[in-house]
Amino acid sequence: MTGPLLQVNNIEVVYNDVILVLRGLSLEVPQGEIVALLGANGAGKSTTLKAISGLLRTEEGEVTRGEIRFLGDRINGIEAHDIVRRGIFQVMEGRRIVADMTCQENLRLGAFTRSDGAVKRDIDMVYSYFPRLRERTGLAGYLSGGEQQMLAIGRALMAQPKLILMDEPSMGLSPLLVKEVFGIIRKLNRDLGITILLVEQNARMALSVASYGYVMEQGKVVLDGTAASLMDNEDVKEFYLGGH
Ligand code: ATP
Repeated sequence: MTGPLLQVNNIEVVYNDVILVLRGLSLEVPQGEIVALLGANGAGKSTTLKAISGLLRTEEGEVTRGEIRFLGDRINGIEAHDIVRRGIFQVMEGRRIVADMTCQENLRLGAFTRSDGAVKRDIDMVYSYFPRLRERTGLAGYLSGGEQQMLAIGRALMAQPKLILMDEPSMGLSPLLVKEVFGIIRKLNRDLGITILLVEQNARMALSVASYGYVMEQGKVVLDGTAASLMDNEDVKEFYLGGH
């Protein structure tokens, strides 16, 4: 493959055949990098992730123009489970772990596409990143918000993804836990080389781990650049970094 791992070219997304939400959005995620996608509520960040992972269909959304390429292949129009098989895993906003299963059962679910014998080894690998999860033997529904977020990330790792799409990993977490979760995101990228596209309201945190960032407004990219250049940008400072 030459070119970036993920390439989103000028896509348009429509919900319920009428509501135009993405209006010619383009972005790239190079292999091995963390890329941040920033923007106000309703800008279309979650929609972008769902367009990539194939999950738009479950919400009556459709990519009506443009294309999404992963490892050079066009993936828009492909079923969500096939996209997981190709190596893209989305960690959903609000975590969506299975509350009435244990941690270990949730982790095994993440490995549903795999037929190799290394699932047990990888559960241990996940526990090495999230030692607290090993101690929690009860149902996942009783985990704290931070632990549920960790479990959701752990479940993504079990799929051995090439690209993880993360939707608001800081949501609902205390500042201390946000730091911890972002520390782990950075570590996963460095140790395992996993490429991450990160949607975040917490722009400061996102830009502190990302190498590159895009800012979205009303379904389009209005600004992009290295994380360092965005941190220095006056508009980004005023609109996205002021409150944190
Ligand atoms: P947030 O941070 O609030 O999640 P966002 O940038 O992720 O914001 P999206 O969730 O992608 O934004 O929403 C973008 C627009 O699409 C909003 O106007 C929203 O109302 C609309 N939208 C999202 N999901 C649907 C849906 N299933 N059906 C119709 N419209 C939707």
